[in-house]
Amino acid sequence: AQTAKPTHQGKKGLQGVKNIIAVSSCKGGVGKSTVAVNLAFSMYKLGLRVGIFDADLYGPSLPTMISPDIAQLYADETDPSLIAPIEFNGVKAMSYGFASQGKSAIMRGPIASNLVSQLIGNTNWGDMDYLVIDFPPGTGDIQITLGQEITIKGAVIVTTPQKLSYVDVVKGIEMFDSLKVPTISVVENMSYYKCTNCETKHKIYGLGYTNQLKTNFGIKNSFEIPIMEEISQMSDQGTPFVLTLPDSLELVQTYNQIARQ
Ligand code: ADP
Repeated sequence: AQTAKPTHQGKKGLQGVKNIIAVSSCKGGVGKSTVAVNLAFSMYKLGLRVGIFDADLYGPSLPTMISPDIAQLYADETDPSLIAPIEFNGVKAMSYGFASQGKSAIMRGPIASNLVSQLIGNTNWGDMDYLVIDFPPGTGDIQITLGQEITIKGAVIVTTPQKLSYVDVVKGIEMFDSLKVPTISVVENMSYYKCTNCETKHKIYGLGYTNQLKTNFGIKNSFEIPIMEEISQMSDQGTPFVLTLPDSLELVQTYNQIARQ
């Protein structure tokens, strides 16, 4: 019988993963990890088999954003040559933060990218429809290594309406272009604040640049996520908000749309 050709440079843990999606931003603090985590859980709610990989060694967010009962890493029972992913509400997760027990990763780029490559490739993701990678901010060693070693289906770029963020988004799109990864959509986070008293959408950071991004780079979809108290409260508590907020909420519907693209 013919065996399937190995992909992702033969990385064992990734052989059963059908699609890999990168969630990226060039700037930190724009809400990239929040989008990555909630996108993964929205996909799970749609009935898909999903995993999330936090590729940020220097500031891993995943251990704060989800709160699994067991956050300890062990060898996988079915294949002891691989690490068992952490499970949380039906989604498989991996982050350097689970291995480092809160210690900082003080290491040079080539060592860091090698470590990230091993961590993603030696995790037993199993058979999976979508693996979401929460990319670290920037366009450095880790990002390039992941882009070169792993077949990424598409990138979701997260930004905020400010010009500073826009300038960096362009760099991110150009990096994915050079890695032959298409940018599927732009998510403009902290797009507006909807006042509960007057129901007006206040554009606190201005009108944003998503239209320019779509026309200049041929990106099909864009989404707007408002500034909401619940978003930061819930991620601080370790609960992805799409799991608890009602499906009728516009925010949750927006995430479902991002997940369905
Ligand atoms: P990044 O991954 O880009 O560094 P994070 O996802 O860690 O950003 O988000 C930074 C902080 O902003 C977190 O505390 C998060 O809860 C908060 N945050 C993100 N998006 C929103 C939003 N739309 N409304 C309110 N707070 C948000």
